[in-house]
Amino acid sequence: MSDIRVRIAPSPTGPLHIGTARTALFNVLFARRHGGTFILRLEDTDVARSTLAFEADILAGLHWLGITWDEGPDSAGGEDHGPYGPYRQMLRLARYAEAAADLLARDLAYPCYCTPDELDADRRVQEAAKQPPRYVGRCAALTPAEREARVAEGRAAATRFRVAPGVIGFDDAVRGRVEIDTANLGGDFVIVRGDGTPLYHFTVVVDDAAMRISHVIRGEDHLSNTPKHILLFRALGHPEPVFAHLPLILNPDRTKMSKRKSRTAISDYIAQGFIREALVNYLALLGWSTGSEEEILSFDEIASRFDLDHVQKGGAVFDPERLEWINGQWIRRLDDDDLAARLGPFLEAEHAAGRIDRTPTADEIRTVLPMIRERLPTLGAVGDLIGFLWVDELTVDPATIVPKRWDAATTATALAAARQAIAAVGDVSFESEEIEPPLRALAERRGWKAGDLFMAIRVAVTGRTATPPLFDTLVALGRDRALARLDAAVAGVVSLVG
Ligand code: GLU
Repeated sequence: MSDIRVRIAPSPTGPLHIGTARTALFNVLFARRHGGTFILRLEDTDVARSTLAFEADILAGLHWLGITWDEGPDSAGGEDHGPYGPYRQMLRLARYAEAAADLLARDLAYPCYCTPDELDADRRVQEAAKQPPRYVGRCAALTPAEREARVAEGRAAATRFRVAPGVIGFDDAVRGRVEIDTANLGGDFVIVRGDGTPLYHFTVVVDDAAMRISHVIRGEDHLSNTPKHILLFRALGHPEPVFAHLPLILNPDRTKMSKRKSRTAISDYIAQGFIREALVNYLALLGWSTGSEEEILSFDEIASRFDLDHVQKGGAVFDPERLEWINGQWIRRLDDDDLAARLGPFLEAEHAAGRIDRTPTADEIRTVLPMIRERLPTLGAVGDLIGFLWVDELTVDPATIVPKRWDAATTATALAAARQAIAAVGDVSFESEEIEPPLRALAERRGWKAGDLFMAIRVAVTGRTATPPLFDTLVALGRDRALARLDAAVAGVVSLVG
């Protein structure tokens, strides 16, 4: 094992988000590439918003993606393992209190007695003067007697960290040299609230230091926090880790991807039938590139090449079409048993929703794979594509059967003739090679475009205009069902002729 130690530090205040999954992935890839250690730490100090259900969603989602960690909790609410535990912040409160006491003792932090009303009033004055919000320093230089007087008034003391003037510079592994003037940090900042709860900037640094994190790889939205973190590392006497800020994930219109505007929960993608191989592949390419044209890569292939110098600086646009394309490519690569097993739950869901009348067996699913494998953008598309096979009574609106260039009378005639041609193909030889020639011959004889005839038959027997190849579809339905559906369609279209 190298000294490389990286972490994902999710807050269980929402379901697993695309951005968190990508950050976790980049961290684990970096660890695997360099023989390092990957840690999961739960940042659960926002007690009001953290839930066990979100924790479960996050851990299950990461596991589903095939992301495993070397240290941290194995399951939601479960035990954790590793030499630097506990790995959940609510179990580490004594450590934060100790670190805060140390900073207070060395006057690198001070007790702040400002009330919310005082701080609000400061903010309003600054707003009116068009100044950025900043702590005014009211409690920065109180004498011991002044502090005692405030305690006597019953005021609670927050702990505020002193921010000295100067410029903080660091070499970001993605962005290069970054320099930020501490004048832009909003003044001395609170690290522990009056009620004793520690704040993110503080806990993250205490833990990254204690857990010997060597590289902090996280989203660019944290870039502006990093100077505060560096000041805290220095104050606590710990070497700073290397920072690497990953590009923001953008919507196709280049606005920031947010929970409100976009589909961001990994569970939504799982529910739609994106498969783990594809999501891992796609998320890895969301800000990283191989430097070659290759697009379809497994976790192991990516892990053997991944490095931070191929991470881009500019925003990474989330392109749902590309994700779907990659998903389709990965679906094609699954072997029959695997694909049939993964489609099973989606067909069960179709059944439960009443869109099909029974759930096909794994064997039945395997039989139709050659027809659908190349046509599935997602597993969830299976119902639309081929659900008609497991519907007992297909109801088709007769008007949809009539091809654009035809009228109802022609359609009725054509379907009746097609029915005869299909019926002439015996039960034993009911194969696509046997069905196609007589139907083509029929179209030619009558001067119909084969495409129109085939479309009418397709809609008649499936209720859809987009299906697997027509003759395979007829074979999959079986001769009797195909004929029965054609009979029903003829009757329906005849009724249109009126
Ligand atoms: N809990 C923080 C978050 O979820 C972690 C940020 C960090 O990696 O420092 O955004």
